[in-house]
Amino acid sequence: MSKGLYLFRSDLRLSDNPLLSRACKECDQLALLVVLHPSQWQDPRSHDVRQSFRRQHFLKESVEDLRASIQTKGLQLIVRFGDELDVLKEIQRSYAMDKLYLEQLPGTEEEGVFDQLFQWCRQAGIQCHTLWQRTLHGIEQLPFKLDRLPHIFTVFRQQVEKNWFVRPIEEVLIWPSAWEAQSDEWPIHLNAPVEIDARAVMSFTGGSHAAKERVQYYCSEPERLGRYKQTRNGMVGADYSSKFSPWLSVGSISPVEIYHAIRDYEEQHGANESSYWLIFELLWRDFFQYTLWVHGDKVFQYDGFGKGEGPLMVSNETALSNWCEGRTGNDFVDGCMRELVATGFMSNRGRQNVASYLVHDLQQDWRRGADFFEYHLLDYEVASNWCNWAYIAGVGNDPRAGRRFNIDKQASDYDPNHTFRNHWKDGSK
Ligand SMILES: Cc1cc2nc3c(=O)[nH]c(=O)nc-3n(C[C@H](O)[C@H](O)[C@H](O)COP(=O)(O)OP(=O)(O)OC[C@H]3O[C@@H](n4cnc5c(N)ncnc54)[C@H](O)[C@@H]3O)c2cc1C
Repeated sequence: MSKGLYLFRSDLRLSDNPLLSRACKECDQLALLVVLHPSQWQDPRSHDVRQSFRRQHFLKESVEDLRASIQTKGLQLIVRFGDELDVLKEIQRSYAMDKLYLEQLPGTEEEGVFDQLFQWCRQAGIQCHTLWQRTLHGIEQLPFKLDRLPHIFTVFRQQVEKNWFVRPIEEVLIWPSAWEAQSDEWPIHLNAPVEIDARAVMSFTGGSHAAKERVQYYCSEPERLGRYKQTRNGMVGADYSSKFSPWLSVGSISPVEIYHAIRDYEEQHGANESSYWLIFELLWRDFFQYTLWVHGDKVFQYDGFGKGEGPLMVSNETALSNWCEGRTGNDFVDGCMRELVATGFMSNRGRQNVASYLVHDLQQDWRRGADFFEYHLLDYEVASNWCNWAYIAGVGNDPRAGRRFNIDKQASDYDPNHTFRNHWKDGSK
């Protein structure tokens, strides 16, 4: 009898999870496990962790939704808090698995975990299976080898578009029997409800059910997806953009599922530049996932992985904390930063502007901005966050060596009637 363990990472879903489908086919018995690191569950009020309470709470909801979906299959999700290797060693003492499955992820820490588990499997005589399943286009579908990954997005996109292939959605057909074990209890502070700010673009509930509802909602009407290209630079309200990012970040939904929802929409309502543009944005996401995979640690260094050096920097802690707290004196930047801290979300237009302001106007270390985003963003993704920051700082993929935005012009172009700035005026909650 073959005994396997599936370790969920940033793929907290049952549907369209090809590695999980494979594990279900190959194992007679399967343990389903999530391991959460201290940063994902220690109370941010008393520990120096890298995730806000809001992010931790969203993750908890995502895991609980996964647990509920697994229960409907007659199986059980084991949730543990700690270090992956320690937890696996402990489970192995009573379970004696012969196969371990975990998805492949880019990022220094993510790859470090994989290497550690891979080594342990080798020593323990366990087969370790992995798969890259984070992107719309799988590695084997790319028309170039990864060491030939284009440095410029347009070149990447054109090559991918010429050889377009997105796999169909993959579902588990037969579930194996479950291996069951005790889960850890969630820490008490995560039982408290999340405070919803009335000014938020929308409220985000973690999990695949909410993700699918949002995709269905956004991709069913011409007035939403059908107008995406015209509305996507908006800043107030739920529907100016898809808001899929928080669910994509933890893997409650896959980009392949979103892609097929867009194609279904096109069959029903016809394709237009908006439906194309949402896929175009998913390609940006792919591009950064691969960029991080290829450039590794360099993405996190001040001089980045571009052709030039990092931008001029003067260390000024006051300027940095004013930026973080939305007290720079620039009402457009301040509104965006208040929105981020109060809700865990900020529009793409806002992100570009506040990043440019920190780097090029305040001349602060761009990595401090990326850290701050990491703490607050509900949709934090290591690749999308760090590569976008590096792009604006001019140390990443930007062919123009950095983007300095004219903040006043941006404010009058994208917030001509001060709707956004009034919405986020201090104290208008
Ligand atoms: C400084 C900075 C930091 C960012 N950090 C993150 C991050 O941590 N996580 C994150 O998901 N996105 C990040 N982005 C990209 C982008 O701002 C968000 O993906 C987008 O605002 C999410 O809202 P949405 O889902 O409504 O996007 P939509 O406009 O509806 O786009 C659909 C999807 O396409 C992808 N996408 C769109 N734009 C980008 C982009 N520039 N880079 C990568 N993927 C993109 C996202 O998955 C998004 O959900 C960052 C951008 C900047 C400028």
